[in-house]
Amino acid sequence: MKRIYNFSAGPAILPEEVLQEAANEMLDYENSGMSVMEMSHRSKIYQAIIDEAEKDLRELLHIPTNYKVLFLQGGATLQFSMVPMNLMKNGKADYIITGQWAKKAAEEAAKFGQVNIVASSQDKMFSYIPDVSDLAISEDSDYVYMCDNNTIYGTKYKELPNTKGKVLVNDASSSFLSEPMDVTKYGIIFAGAQKNVGPAGTVIVIIREDLIRNDIDLKTPIMLRYDIHAENGSMYNTPPTYGIYLCGKVFKWLKNKGGLEAMQKTNIEKANLLYDYLDSSKMFFGNVEKKSRSLMNVTFKSTSPELDEKFIKEAKAHGFDNLKGYRTVGGMRASIYNAMPIKGVQALVDFMREFERQNG
Ligand SMILES: *Cc1c(COP(=O)(O)O)cnc(C)c1O
Repeated sequence: MKRIYNFSAGPAILPEEVLQEAANEMLDYENSGMSVMEMSHRSKIYQAIIDEAEKDLRELLHIPTNYKVLFLQGGATLQFSMVPMNLMKNGKADYIITGQWAKKAAEEAAKFGQVNIVASSQDKMFSYIPDVSDLAISEDSDYVYMCDNNTIYGTKYKELPNTKGKVLVNDASSSFLSEPMDVTKYGIIFAGAQKNVGPAGTVIVIIREDLIRNDIDLKTPIMLRYDIHAENGSMYNTPPTYGIYLCGKVFKWLKNKGGLEAMQKTNIEKANLLYDYLDSSKMFFGNVEKKSRSLMNVTFKSTSPELDEKFIKEAKAHGFDNLKGYRTVGGMRASIYNAMPIKGVQALVDFMREFERQNG
């Protein structure tokens, strides 16, 4: 068996220990005589899995008791619809557009009410996080929307927006559990699991209880109502059972690694290795403003698209895969999520240095 260094933005690398453990338990989970995939979600043994996953997540993020944790489906993209459908009371929301995902979320929300764009970095291809210290928040806005880490462009907020007392909704898909997070600053945090937490098919929603309404439009599809999922402990229907089990294993792995404070420290170290090299290189250059740099998705270019292509091809041949940038951005993107070991980043930097020497 040979595993490569997988720099995919998502679905992405998972901790090897987690995959190994899941493999060991594949045919017979804890003497049940079956795989977790084959179990009833209503069984005692499965209930213990989802309860434990929630408990560990609550511990990792210090989630207060007035927040619900939901394990849902439909990816982060379905949250683009669920957020406005469930939260728009006055029919108005303020969006900060820092990339493709926030833009899509705003477009979706505009189907349900008035969307005000209170800040955007589209003028410079989303290569920075705009100043969010004094936004023109609407007086009767139902919420302010942000996307913490912009997976495609490689930027991340360093300060939270000043919402002037309004509820903050955060798409944290690609930075979730990469560092500590003060949950109390948000009304809703959601994250698709396939970036930093688990396999595709599960989305985690952390929602403050007072935002869970039961007086929303009666035509709202039942599967799109937070109140229904909350009342039923994420089991209104069959939840993504195996995905939740794997997320639970990743939460345990994170706890064993020392929690999110320790993870943040390692993630800063990893990102610095790569950014320091990019800043010193004469061939490779970071795409985004230094002060907006993401710790998870490092975007860069070489001196020409032809050289980018050669680099991606040779990197793949050397066991560094999925380094191609997003199709609308070009260049390269190295996603260095929690599960990417520091030696993987070091090996990539060594390879880039050698490539620069040979092609410079
Ligand atoms: C990947 C991603 C999405 C889309 O996720 P799906 O699960 O495919 O719907 C949304 N937001 C961010 C920040 C992402 O990285």
